Amino acid sequence: MKDIESLRHSIDEIDKQLTELFERRMNIAAEVADYKEKNKLPILVKEREKEVIAKNLSRLKNKDIEKETEEFFQCLMDISRKYQASRMSCISDAPESSDVKLYGLIGEKLGHSFSPAIHSIIMQKLGIKGCYHLFEVERDSLSRALDGLKHLNIKGVNVTIPYKVEVMEYLDEVSREAKGIGAVNTICFREKKAYGFNTDYYGFGMMLDKMNVDLHHKKAVILGAGGAANSVVRYLKDNGIKEIALVSRNKDSAKCRFKDLGIYGYEEAGLLRSFDMIINCTPCGMHPDIDVCPVPPDIIGNFSYAIDLIYNPSETLFLKYAREKGLTAANGLYMLAGQAVKSQELWNDIDIPGSTADEIYAQSVELRVKNSRF
Ligand code: NAP
Repeated sequence: MKDIESLRHSIDEIDKQLTELFERRMNIAAEVADYKEKNKLPILVKEREKEVIAKNLSRLKNKDIEKETEEFFQCLMDISRKYQASRMSCISDAPESSDVKLYGLIGEKLGHSFSPAIHSIIMQKLGIKGCYHLFEVERDSLSRALDGLKHLNIKGVNVTIPYKVEVMEYLDEVSREAKGIGAVNTICFREKKAYGFNTDYYGFGMMLDKMNVDLHHKKAVILGAGGAANSVVRYLKDNGIKEIALVSRNKDSAKCRFKDLGIYGYEEAGLLRSFDMIINCTPCGMHPDIDVCPVPPDIIGNFSYAIDLIYNPSETLFLKYAREKGLTAANGLYMLAGQAVKSQELWNDIDIPGSTADEIYAQSVELRVKNSRF
């Protein structure tokens, strides 16, 4: 009979091989996760799991350990599924289950979106079983798309470029705040009705807090007169900004929407020299058109703070110029995390502690570093 030390030694040897094999298996599971995500396939495929167990039981020489072998493979596949779910934007590991909540994002082009990843992090953190889908909607289909979403069992969606303003006319109700801001970025569906809210406002505020910016006595220049500019203007006004100037390609239309602001064309932007901060609320520089900047570097040099609402890429040309010129600069990732947290609060009728946005932001930055896709 072998002594215990030599038995332990044999087990250590086998464990070493098992670890190497486990690592190889998990690496392949990661590739499978990427494939499933790309092809919108569910994580759990029960038939495939049954097949794997049956195949391996048939290979077993010692039939006395059939039950244990089955348990071993089931456990292995559970771990693999959890690992796949953590890599994918959809955290559900049980797509057939009815308690999985559906959420999503509507916009025109969504290839750049980091929202599925952010919501996946939030849901994992809060233990919400859910899936966050991207719904690309063509410009003339917005009303039909909303009608379709109302009739699906979906809890809520975020709204992004270019629909934050237009979407308001198709909603059953819009919150007082969102009406005041003039843009909706979050919709809750309840009993086949659509309710609009604005959480960009909060996300922007959280980002300024993070940057330690005190708005009192400050003057801001905003680039672009779209839906996001509405939230930014409202937040700045509500929090003591001294003056706002807005730069637009279309001064007449901007004047109609932002009646009490100074409106300038891009050719006049160089005249705005006594302002503290410049905030890019245009999509200029956003993935995939990353080689453009809304204003030239010498204009950016006239300010102390530069904020770009864009978060992909993490450093736009606008922010690169700003940093080179010594400005305090921030991208839109913290705002994205903040607005996403607020959206989850609305969809699930819960309060999420303020510190959660910090944790989600930190995890998002980590995820971006790991995953060059964002
Ligand atoms: P939007 O409603 O389409 O408005 C963007 C505005 O930018 C347009 O109204 C236009 O204003 C200007 N613009 C558009 N294309 C331009 C171009 N090629 N050159 C110069 N100006 C241009 O979009 P949005 O919803 O406001 O979003 C704007 C940006 O903010 C997007 O990149 C979006 O991803 C980002 N965003 C980020 C967050 C976040 O959480 N980080 C939240 C909201 C938005 P004028 O016609 O007045 O020039």
